[in-house]
Amino acid sequence: MNNMDNLYRQVIMDHYKNPRNKGLIQDPSYKTIHIKNPTCGDDITVQSKVEDGIVKDVRHDGSGCSICCSSASVMSETVKGKSVQEASVVAENYLNMLANKPYDETVDLEEAIVYQGVRQFPARIKCASIAWKAFEGTLKESE
Ligand code: ZN
Repeated sequence: MNNMDNLYRQVIMDHYKNPRNKGLIQDPSYKTIHIKNPTCGDDITVQSKVEDGIVKDVRHDGSGCSICCSSASVMSETVKGKSVQEASVVAENYLNMLANKPYDETVDLEEAIVYQGVRQFPARIKCASIAWKAFEGTLKESE
């Protein structure tokens, strides 16, 4: 394992053990999307609150593997406070990176870049994707 892999693993384990923004909020101003990944047992719910074109808050809850749960935490920190447009661009590029599709490398994925190693494990790509897909879904509902 090289140092970069080690660093990436540390970030993932930190978010898995100490998830940020975890726990749902009962408030109709939050849009909620629930996604399951039957191949791994991941079961994630994501909420976002958009106000004046800004992602004011992002919450997540659920259970699953370390890749899935940690990516929900990383996602919440990465997109919170961004404009809806910026957050959408980050989400789109992150998902394209994971899927080995062309993506804009000038877009700063922040901590979410740690999941680029997941591309080597096709079975885990969905694990790293579903929280972000759920987030995209909440943005669509906020339109
Ligand atoms: Zn998983």
